[in-house]
Amino acid sequence: PKAGEVILEARNVTRKFGGLVANNDMNLTVKAGEILALIGPNGAGKSTMFNQLSGVDTPTSGEVLFLGKPVAGRDSREIARMGMSRTFQHVRLLPTMTVLENVAIGAHLRGGKGVFHAAWRQDRAEEARLLKEAARQIERVGLGSHMYDEAGSLALGQQRILEIARALCSDPCLLLLDEPAAGLRLKEKEALGDLLRKLRAEGMAILIVEHDMDFVMGLVDRVVVMEFGQKIAEGLPDEVQRDPAVLEAYLGG
Ligand code: ADP
Ligand code: MG
Repeated sequence: PKAGEVILEARNVTRKFGGLVANNDMNLTVKAGEILALIGPNGAGKSTMFNQLSGVDTPTSGEVLFLGKPVAGRDSREIARMGMSRTFQHVRLLPTMTVLENVAIGAHLRGGKGVFHAAWRQDRAEEARLLKEAARQIERVGLGSHMYDEAGSLALGQQRILEIARALCSDPCLLLLDEPAAGLRLKEKEALGDLLRKLRAEGMAILIVEHDMDFVMGLVDRVVVMEFGQKIAEGLPDEVQRDPAVLEAYLGG
């Protein structure tokens, strides 16, 4: 996709859990090459929205289109092959295996060809291809010097970056990150921010769901703010930060 083109679009997305409306008529777009933050206080409906956008969950009404095609009803591998890749809120790695093995296995599990897809290490040519791709993505995210370290020995910030390397193996044009900065120290947040800027400069679109306003403000191109399941503000970080409704949502609660 060309920079500025809409690649992901939520149209009137509503998600109800019984009587609770977790997402209420949400509209948003992500454009090629931009970083968009979806922020809001706890319970606002961000994770629910993330699940609609990534195709993990299906809206009660409305739809999500990625590159013009509905995401609902597709499995995660199919969505990865279309060019959308996500990380998980909690790092899920194999602590006694190396960084290289973790990224290669993650890529194997995500990118496979469904249930007929060979088990890890049964297909030597596929294994070699995955290891090569994993090494390339580990270098890309700046973890090259840790390639053969045990994943469990990495600091939390590096583990999050390892998760991003995994997500990059399917060659996405859109990355969805759920609270990537949660629990990180300031230096780690800075390193993560630098990586996301680098990926954007390479043409990647990134959607970040984040509770922490400070992390996103110096980084993202646009912000969508949610409260009580609804969009309450949208715009440039500076505008949104000064919006009375946003200040009220964060401080008034
Ligand atoms: P956020 O990520 O912004 O903190 P969530 O999307 O996790 O918010 O939650 C929004 C609301 O939806 C909350 O009230 C939460 O309890 C509710 N909710 C989320 N997922 C479910 C579910 N699977 N079943 C019932 N209620 C849910
Ligand atoms: Mg959440």
